[in-house]
Amino acid sequence: MSRFWKPGAEKPRLLEDEEGGVLFFSASPLSSSSSGYGRTNIEMLRQRLPVYKYRTAILYLVETHATTIIVGETGSGKTTQIPQFLKEAGWADEGRVIACTQPRRLAVQSVASRVAEEMDVKLGEEVGYTIRFEDITNNDLTRIKFLTDGVLLREMMDDPLLSKYSVIMVDEAHERSLSTDILLGLLKKVPILLDNALNTIVYLTLCLTMLSTQIQRRRPDLRLIISSATIEARSMADFFVSRTRRSQGPEKEENIPVTEPAILSVEGRGFNVEIFYVEEPVSDYLQKAVSTVLSIHDQEPGGDILVFLTGQDDIDAAVQLLTEESQHGRQKGLMVLPLYSGLSRADQELVFSPTPRGKRKVVISTNIAETSLTLEGIVYVVDSGFSKQRFYNPISDIENLVIVPISKASARQRAGRAGRIRPGKCYRLYTEEYFLKEMSAVGIPEIQRSNLVSAVIQLKALGIDNVLGFDWPASPSSEAMIRALEVLYSLGVLDDDAKLTSPEGFQVAEIPLDPMISKMILASNQLGCSEEVITIAAFLSIQSIWYTAKGAEKELDETKLRFAAAEGDHVTFLNVYKGFLQSNKSSKWCHNNFINYHAMKKALEVREQLRRTAQRLGIALKSCDDDMQVVRKAVTAGFFANACRLEAYSHNGMYKTVRTSQEVYIHPSSVLFRVNPKWVVYNSLVSTDRQYMRNVISIDPSWLREAAPHFYQYQQPNPLAR
Ligand code: ADP
Ligand code: MG
Repeated sequence: MSRFWKPGAEKPRLLEDEEGGVLFFSASPLSSSSSGYGRTNIEMLRQRLPVYKYRTAILYLVETHATTIIVGETGSGKTTQIPQFLKEAGWADEGRVIACTQPRRLAVQSVASRVAEEMDVKLGEEVGYTIRFEDITNNDLTRIKFLTDGVLLREMMDDPLLSKYSVIMVDEAHERSLSTDILLGLLKKVPILLDNALNTIVYLTLCLTMLSTQIQRRRPDLRLIISSATIEARSMADFFVSRTRRSQGPEKEENIPVTEPAILSVEGRGFNVEIFYVEEPVSDYLQKAVSTVLSIHDQEPGGDILVFLTGQDDIDAAVQLLTEESQHGRQKGLMVLPLYSGLSRADQELVFSPTPRGKRKVVISTNIAETSLTLEGIVYVVDSGFSKQRFYNPISDIENLVIVPISKASARQRAGRAGRIRPGKCYRLYTEEYFLKEMSAVGIPEIQRSNLVSAVIQLKALGIDNVLGFDWPASPSSEAMIRALEVLYSLGVLDDDAKLTSPEGFQVAEIPLDPMISKMILASNQLGCSEEVITIAAFLSIQSIWYTAKGAEKELDETKLRFAAAEGDHVTFLNVYKGFLQSNKSSKWCHNNFINYHAMKKALEVREQLRRTAQRLGIALKSCDDDMQVVRKAVTAGFFANACRLEAYSHNGMYKTVRTSQEVYIHPSSVLFRVNPKWVVYNSLVSTDRQYMRNVISIDPSWLREAAPHFYQYQQPNPLAR
């Protein structure tokens, strides 16, 4: 531990540290066990959570107020308990449903299964969940439903009054996810109250309150709960308190809820967390995280360790390094586990299961463990200071996952995870000076770093025509907005007045995919290849179907050749799909062919859902047999804006995009790598050392003009002539 120091120890303590050096954490002195215990035990555990003491207050406020805002530290029981309180109080009687949204898919799955376990019911019956392409609910039985905020937005398209729900709990509001912000933006007039002095939470909650009053004017029975993990400063708490007092005026009429929001702050008993910083900036946070874990294990008493890294790559690397250490006997008793979205159900369960006696669990996680999920037993936190975030550049049209420094708010949340069961310690792999002087106070809302194509189409489908003049909670860049409108116009989704076209625009909006993929599916209808194109669409929505093991890259490349199609990656997917069906969906076949069996099964599930959506939209399900030309035409109809022309064979083939003349290359994972056809369209760009095209298919340039005459006439006077 020698290279860490703690404020107040060797160096003088700076006053600004942690808003005066106080951290408040809710905590309950539980044993680190929960699953697999009897009913009484679960009841006892529930009763010890901080929200339990507020049960009556919460139920009273929800009964009497249209909107209730609940702020409470992570782990205080908001997500798992409040829906159960509501159900016990009758909010799910007479076929009504209680909804609870989360920004993250993994969190939806995890909390739903936890709540089902606590209620001793089968997941998918009384308690269920819905995420995109996965609906584990039962129309007749499900009373508590967890879902992503994105899925709730989609449901609003069909049912703007959300009529099947009695209560909607918008959880994790501090996360500022794109869909949460769109929900907020749906309210026209954001209160003027907002100025810089007020933080995100107030902003959000006021916006959401407006939302509820709009819907609630027509549905006075609907209740909204907004919950959040953060109060960023003391003044915030005061603000909430004074609002609470004001809102508790006498009620005017019976059964009509008060429209002003009630605000409740759940206070948990706090365990202090000691913060340690590195003395010198760290050059390799991965190495430093590993060595910090090892020295905690060496020098500190028992208690689990939570390490925050950025994504699957560095997490897997750290897991491997630590596992090697523990296998070589130097570090006995370490149980090293990864945590990121995309983890199998079994691996997720390992993370949440109690630590065996005599062992120390080390969970290496993305920022999913920051506020969305609670891990029991954590006493030590190692914070790399980084997270992976999506960033979109509207000029180059590239959306990338980038490793960026976290905000102070995130750093505090991460530290807080160490103080759940007893006083804890947090090791920050950055200097205190950096924390104080360089770290931004809060993160950038997702809406300001995303491609807006899907957001715009959703708003249009909800009847918001003026997206440019729309009251966004945080305004997106005008370049991103213009780019989105341009793409949708060229796809024929929007007309000259920027209204959704009928039926095509509405159909594209209804398919829960990127509009370019949706357009490709619609085009396949006329071309008579919808069966094939739906398969391609399903494969494109799965991260990767290939099994990527470190050190086995060469075998993987060789295996891919068995399926490789001269036309490109999309047709290769069709070959893989055929092979899988011929093998009777065998996992052994997948294993032999370096194909990820779980990803394949997922792709088949997605395909089935898309098939149903297509049928609903009146698309004839038809196969073109082996006519790959029509398949390529359909892909072009969706992705013409991503057309590229080969400029030079040398240096692995340099292409230029037709739209912006950017230099791009075929990604080494593509079957067209080194093949370099003259004209291609790609599915997406990733940039590492260069801009690489992923999922590439060769095309005939004459199809471009066919697919998008406007786009290729006006934008590029003569790009096809050369
Ligand atoms: P909040 O939403 O306020 O962050 P949660 O409702 O998610 O809190 O969690 C409340 C408590 O429930 C946690 O402190 C933990 O004790 C327990 N808990 C939640 N999820 C799990 C799980 N998957 N396994 C075991 N215990 C859990
Ligand atoms: Mg929660």
